[in-house]
Amino acid sequence: MPTLLAKNATVLVTMDNERRELPHAGLFARDGMIEHVGPTEQLPRSADLVLDLAGQIVLPGFVNAHHHLDQTLTRNLPAAQNNNLFPWLQVHYRVWSSRTPEASRCSTLIGLAELAASGCTTVFDHAYVFQNGCRVDDQIAAAQEIGVRFHACRGSMSLGESKGGLPPDDCVEDEKAILADCVRVIETYHDASRGAMTQVVLGPCSPFSVTTDLLRASAQLARAYKVRLHTHLCETLDEERYTLERYQLRPVAWMETLDWLGGDVWFAHAVHVEDDEIQQFARTGAGAAHCPCSNMRLASGIAPVKKYLAAGVKVGLGVDGSASNDASNILLEARQAMLLARLRLGLLPPEGPRTFFLLSPSHPLRAHEWMTAREVLEIATRGGAAVLGRDDIGALEVGKCADFFSIDLHTVDYAGALHDPVAATLFCAPQKAHYTVINGRVVVEKGQVITVDMRPVVEAHNRFALQCANKS
Ligand SMILES: [Zn+2]
Repeated sequence: MPTLLAKNATVLVTMDNERRELPHAGLFARDGMIEHVGPTEQLPRSADLVLDLAGQIVLPGFVNAHHHLDQTLTRNLPAAQNNNLFPWLQVHYRVWSSRTPEASRCSTLIGLAELAASGCTTVFDHAYVFQNGCRVDDQIAAAQEIGVRFHACRGSMSLGESKGGLPPDDCVEDEKAILADCVRVIETYHDASRGAMTQVVLGPCSPFSVTTDLLRASAQLARAYKVRLHTHLCETLDEERYTLERYQLRPVAWMETLDWLGGDVWFAHAVHVEDDEIQQFARTGAGAAHCPCSNMRLASGIAPVKKYLAAGVKVGLGVDGSASNDASNILLEARQAMLLARLRLGLLPPEGPRTFFLLSPSHPLRAHEWMTAREVLEIATRGGAAVLGRDDIGALEVGKCADFFSIDLHTVDYAGALHDPVAATLFCAPQKAHYTVINGRVVVEKGQVITVDMRPVVEAHNRFALQCANKS
């Protein structure tokens, strides 16, 4: 039972129920679980591994609530730099379906390495293109190799162009085969126990790439196995037009008819929602993964995150795939979430009486409309844990997983901001983690992944990516 002592942090952000921020603090963990959190002098004196975090801030590991790791292979494709979701997808579908299992392994390692170095310790990945021998197993193996806590989505597409869907027919799968593989992946990999390093989620891709039958069957299967459900929803107005024309319902109403609103479901993006739909999410327990960079990159819109929080909707943060980001830096994503919510505040009418709009955004009556740095840090930690259905991550307290990261505060980038180091992590430029610890194991040291030699992975990944670019 290996032990870990992390000590002497300038400040440790617990994200516990009291949201304590502890000066001169640290934690002690055994076998990947936290046994003590508090002032350094009150912690055990020694451990198998001791990290001295003097001059550093410690935060709970961030939870990435929406991603497509394979898309690091298709970053920055010229044909998809300047278009919105539907034409952007049409550029990519066949390129993604042509990737090989080895390319999938490399892209998973690249994405997870970038996430871990930016403070992420748990990653949900929504894979949904399975051609050419690729399986979700390739990614689970890569996550185990690098040591990141991983929620793998056996996603799916079954509605090709000839049946009115968006993806080409040769990029979708047979529904019976999809469901059989979902059963196989759940039975092989899903671990429901506390401290689990691997869990499985079912994720039909989007309203315009799967049938109602597959959505219904996926929900039944997920509930039979007690795993979570995820899909893209309310991402764009094109999607809204699609469900209105095809099903005569807005996306949320349509999902309700398929038994897809519930505490075991979360939706990626959830940008275009009416106020009553926000209340529906709150009532049913459905959550949202906010992906600000992708929403800006694809001109999708601005999700009403403050409204979600005010209504009590669970909200996590996601970097989304690297074809629409094109980074997997979760600290950068958190900063964008803070800034984008403020842009929305300046652009759109406020909640409450109409007269509020006449008040300056800085009027005390509108103080609650501001997205603060600490609110975003909470979304990125506790919020992500909530949408993934985990009560053992997202905070640093006794009985939770030893998942955290530290940042060196004494750098040029933070100089002048240290009167509030917690807020500085988002107000100042995003920094690489000094340490990222997952399950009590050091995965990142001085900003670099140390569990896998990333140099050959980067080289191989670049070769695969060039092949993808030549196909686009
Ligand atoms: Zn996505």
